[in-house]
Amino acid sequence: MARAQAKRLMRNQPPVSRPRGVPDEADDHPREECGIFAVYGHPQAANLIYLGLYALQHRGQEGAGIVCSDEGVLTAHRGLGLVHDVFKPHKLARVRGTHGIGHVRYSTFGSNNLRNVQPLVVDYARGAMAVAHNGNLVNAQFLRDGLEDIGAIFQSTTDSEVLIHLISRSSEETFTETVVDALHRVQGAYSVLVMNGEEIVAARDPFGFRPLWLGRLQETWVVASETCALDIIDAEWLREIEPGEVVTIGRDGIRSQKPFAAVTPRQCIFEFIYVARPDSYIFGMSVDTVRKNLGRQLARVAPVEADLVMAVPDSSNPAALGYAHESGIPFDMGFIRNHYVGRTFIEPDQGIRDFGVKIKLNPSRETVAGKRIVLIDDSIVRGTTARKIINLLRRCDAREIHFRVASPKIINSCYYGIDTPNRTKLIAHNMSVEEIREFLGVDSLAYLPIEALLEATGCDKDHFCLACFNNEYPTPTPDDFESHAPVPRHVDHSTELLGL
Ligand code: SF4
Repeated sequence: MARAQAKRLMRNQPPVSRPRGVPDEADDHPREECGIFAVYGHPQAANLIYLGLYALQHRGQEGAGIVCSDEGVLTAHRGLGLVHDVFKPHKLARVRGTHGIGHVRYSTFGSNNLRNVQPLVVDYARGAMAVAHNGNLVNAQFLRDGLEDIGAIFQSTTDSEVLIHLISRSSEETFTETVVDALHRVQGAYSVLVMNGEEIVAARDPFGFRPLWLGRLQETWVVASETCALDIIDAEWLREIEPGEVVTIGRDGIRSQKPFAAVTPRQCIFEFIYVARPDSYIFGMSVDTVRKNLGRQLARVAPVEADLVMAVPDSSNPAALGYAHESGIPFDMGFIRNHYVGRTFIEPDQGIRDFGVKIKLNPSRETVAGKRIVLIDDSIVRGTTARKIINLLRRCDAREIHFRVASPKIINSCYYGIDTPNRTKLIAHNMSVEEIREFLGVDSLAYLPIEALLEATGCDKDHFCLACFNNEYPTPTPDDFESHAPVPRHVDHSTELLGL
């Protein structure tokens, strides 16, 4: 059978079901993506990375991993689940070394099995290397097809493994040069950490889609997706790694270079709306401040007479507070959230799924009964969960519900690391605002216009990617490369059982 025909057949296989980590159906937001963390020059690097990943858990809950270098020998531990499940003390103790990288994963690309959990680690001609990547590469499948055609073997279905192949094939001299050589060939979003036995290279793509920070803990260098992960180990915030910057951390300190052609940055505005933790600073701004500003803007563009403002907790709390401050309408905790649920590892049976919202959120009847409510959510993806939440309020005798969304209509999919469904499944792609209002069963509905969103950040359009709202993708999309999502071609249960 011709190789091309075989590939086509393999791609037509149905996707393999997720072994664990069924998507949390109580949540109707775009899924978080990944978080990365690195430490250089500390005798307990793995423990610091563990804490850093703990602080970045909101960026990915399906898998976690740490790789450390002990005098040039890389030791890894990776697993499926939350950080504290993956790293029991005896397992963490096995990951020794003075520098290392870590990763928390939500599977925006590639299925959720252990082979896809990062950091990916390989032995190659120059020793060993590990990669931890946040973002999606839009030409990954195109590159992978080319590599497979010349005999390359892939162990995972993640786009990040392409980087490993490109680095290992580079004929450049130094480790950093091989990484830069590989990065010249990929397109899309990456905040990435690449390490070998001696050095860590931290790089951010020229558009700067995903955040990346450089920090310092006495003599130790630290790199993190967000400042909240620097805070947890008392590391000083030095500066953000700039879009297009490559930083090498080694025995002699750090070296920085900007080896790519300069472009106008397109940082992901969704980091402010939903992804990043409110106590973090990213892209030069406080996430909490921007979120409150989103609520203020919403109150200006979509005012309404009401008795109370409430949020769909927790991510919408700052925007709801901002709306309340601006409008003068009191804020109240109309929903009680069960913080002990975590991700619901349940079968995706329809009856159970409906139950999922109630497991997570319950309205406070006393607070909402008979009230005219402004309900704030940060975004709507499919609208199915929003409808269930509104139903809960109706059943508690809310008198009026005015739904206000602290972002514009999501009309397109993201190709840069935020997991939004195909656009045909996006409610705002298919319905007008009035149709959505009817579907949700609310008295009024308003979204935040793009201009007001930008106003909330204090920056103009040229700072941000807004593609999921305005269809202006800063790069070619995967369709432009005639690429296809890879399917796993075998499942290796033995590695999962060993928990390697
Ligand atoms: Fe962020 Fe949307 Fe751009 Fe994706 S498409 S990077 S979610 S702004």
